[in-house]
Amino acid sequence: MYDIAIIGSGIVGLAHALMAVRRGLRPVVIERQAAPIGASIRNFGFVTVTGQGETDTWRRARRSRDIWADIAPQAGIEIVQRGLLVTAQRPEAMQVLEAFAAHEMGAACHLLTPQAVRETYTGIGPALEGALYSPHELRVESRTAIPRLVQWLAQNGVTFRFETAALTVDGTDVVTPQGRVRSDAVIVCPGDDLTQLYPDLYARQGVTRSQLHMMRLAAPGFDLVCPRMSDLSLVRYRGYAERPESATLSAVLEREQKAHLDKGVHLIVTQSADGSLIVGDSHHYGRAPEPFYDVTVEALILEEFQRVLGIEPLPVIERWLGTYASASEDLMRLSPSERVRLVVVTSGTGASTSFGIAEETFNDLYGKDPSHDH
Ligand SMILES: Cc1cc2nc3c(=O)[nH]c(=O)nc-3n(C[C@H](O)[C@H](O)[C@H](O)COP(=O)(O)OP(=O)(O)OC[C@H]3O[C@@H](n4cnc5c(N)ncnc54)[C@H](O)[C@@H]3O)c2cc1C
Repeated sequence: MYDIAIIGSGIVGLAHALMAVRRGLRPVVIERQAAPIGASIRNFGFVTVTGQGETDTWRRARRSRDIWADIAPQAGIEIVQRGLLVTAQRPEAMQVLEAFAAHEMGAACHLLTPQAVRETYTGIGPALEGALYSPHELRVESRTAIPRLVQWLAQNGVTFRFETAALTVDGTDVVTPQGRVRSDAVIVCPGDDLTQLYPDLYARQGVTRSQLHMMRLAAPGFDLVCPRMSDLSLVRYRGYAERPESATLSAVLEREQKAHLDKGVHLIVTQSADGSLIVGDSHHYGRAPEPFYDVTVEALILEEFQRVLGIEPLPVIERWLGTYASASEDLMRLSPSERVRLVVVTSGTGASTSFGIAEETFNDLYGKDPSHDH
């Protein structure tokens, strides 16, 4: 008998397991695969604050960033990069950045002139109107960070049952092929599995899947200093896209980079400890995305890479696809019954927001924990 059963060992499930431990509960995590191999290890590991949707997502991102910073050293997880540089290739993009910097969400961010950008950073393309630097971000290497988080949680009282599929939730029991797992409450975090658990609720909320093309490029031989984004990101990330100034930028991008917009391409470049770069991404939506990696999409991403960083694309050393749950809201959190919660991040923000979300779920199920006041 456990206090709480958590289905799914992606970052959403692991964040809820952490909150259970913090409250002195006995949690079990039930995972279908032999290890977490979903969205949570395929992402950039980029805990992004600046650019997140105003109010809830922005608040959750700030809280999650603080929790990542707190637990990373305890769990032996390296913070590989900090901060964010968004460069503007066009005057219309700079206007969006100026509007963002003047907003409450721009606190502690600063605008940089083209000259200041070139003096501080290597890998800056010829088209440059200026940039926004944000100090709020941090980045972990998800591929190793998520397994380390599992290990550390296991050492701190979390039971993991891998290779155990949750077939259904019956009251507060989880039914698996290996038998029932009994608990007092259940938190269901199956990510973009739309069909096994609560398919009716997924359908009602209009949840689909978003598929991304990702790659790792050989080390460029210089320090990127912090992750990069560019003009295309400003019409995708809600914190920028909701500034009225983004309408003009959208119209320009529609004319000049329609192929990129059609494939949902924008640029994120991050750097790993060995100097190699994780570069992406693209967005294809649908319940059954085709499993084939499309090199024409890769070419669009690399074209943007060359434009923004001003260097020839480096050799691709790894390619992969990832998918996440997607809907019009950033988060789906529902109560199928009194002691059961379905928690699905329905946007590409789970690495950035899960700890904040998990804290809220526990406040809802068990009452507010005064030690979380901030
Ligand atoms: C390529 C890519 C890049 C991204 N970049 C970023 C980024 O930089 N920053 C950011 O904040 N977000 C990013 N995201 C989004 C983020 O990765 C996701 O929002 C987050 O990982 C979702 O976590 P999850 O735990 O819901 O899903 P997952 O990691 O997919 O985990 C769900 C788990 O549930 C298990 N499961 C499902 N059904 C069952 C069942 N019935 N029984 C047992 N187990 C089950 C699955 O096997 C899986 O392990 C990115 C996503 C992708 C794909």
